[in-house]
Amino acid sequence: MHVDLRSDTITIPSKEMLSAILSAKVGDDVYGEDPTVRELEKKLAVMFGMDMAMFFPSGTMANQTAIKLHTNPGDQVICDKYSHVFNYEGGGGAFNSGVSFKLINGNRGMFNSNQLLESINPKEFYHSPLSSLVTIENTTNKGGGACWDMNEIKNIKKICKENNLGLHLDGARIWNALVKKEENPLEYGDIFDTISVCFSKGLGCPIGSALIGRNQIMKKAIRIRKILGGAMRQSGYLAAASIFALDNNIKRLKEDHIKAKEIGKELVNLSFVNKVEEVETNIIVFEIDKKIKKNTIVDVFKKLNISFDWYSMGINKIRIVTHLDYTKEKHDYLLTKINSIKI
Ligand SMILES: *Cc1c(COP(=O)(O)O)cnc(C)c1O
Repeated sequence: MHVDLRSDTITIPSKEMLSAILSAKVGDDVYGEDPTVRELEKKLAVMFGMDMAMFFPSGTMANQTAIKLHTNPGDQVICDKYSHVFNYEGGGGAFNSGVSFKLINGNRGMFNSNQLLESINPKEFYHSPLSSLVTIENTTNKGGGACWDMNEIKNIKKICKENNLGLHLDGARIWNALVKKEENPLEYGDIFDTISVCFSKGLGCPIGSALIGRNQIMKKAIRIRKILGGAMRQSGYLAAASIFALDNNIKRLKEDHIKAKEIGKELVNLSFVNKVEEVETNIIVFEIDKKIKKNTIVDVFKKLNISFDWYSMGINKIRIVTHLDYTKEKHDYLLTKINSIKI
């Protein structure tokens, strides 16, 4: 048995999802003629109470489009130091939009409205880059699947409004937050100018993301998606998987969260584990004792046929992500093995 918990992106489409794909009605979406893509986009717009949604091949491209929509070259984007848009999009903010980032030293990828206020460059002070966009991530990836407090988001929105800043949500794992906090997507649609979501993470799709927003800002998105190479043809086959995922795979995220919590509890007992971040959703980030080489730990787990995300979180941190293909059988195997590890 191989237990692969590197990411929730490693899932393979289920038989049911594949049959939804096979029976999709498709057309050329570049001509605006794919009925399944239209259906998905409509469904998302309604779900979040926004004017429109646009289907994208990846979350990175949806985020990059959002940054481009909200900024001009030379502007500054304000985000947490852990943000995906800053750390894991290949420097795309600079490459595609010519922006720099002001990083907030938040907690687990989240900051508060006072920290935001302190990070905004005064408009009249033309020596500094113009602050034009704030992005937040929910749930936070590098922050270990933490969920934002809705009241803090509302405070942040107020500051954005007062300072004429756009507000973008990187909602690659917004589904996990909605389930965990029992929130309604309409609350998010009411606050944010743009929202990106992913279907290829916890929801188990092979490909697919979307950018959701109001007409005013989204009307330019189709050209930017084209420029970035994201105009797709019979993408209804992919959209069909996304529709299936929205209808069937959101509620069950609860199971991933329970399993993650159980893993977190076991990790605490290991001698080489210094600290396990609070487990809120499907991500566990833990810190290992600096005296122990990470490769020693990697080797022990490798022998047990267990894969975690060893390197992307930093030198002494490891990430584990539970997902749709992580069965009860694999979970039981993992818990037993963790229990028996001695280093
Ligand atoms: C995965 C992820 C994305 C998008 O990644 P893609 O692999 O490009 O789909 C964006 N933001 C966060 C927080 C993510 O975890």
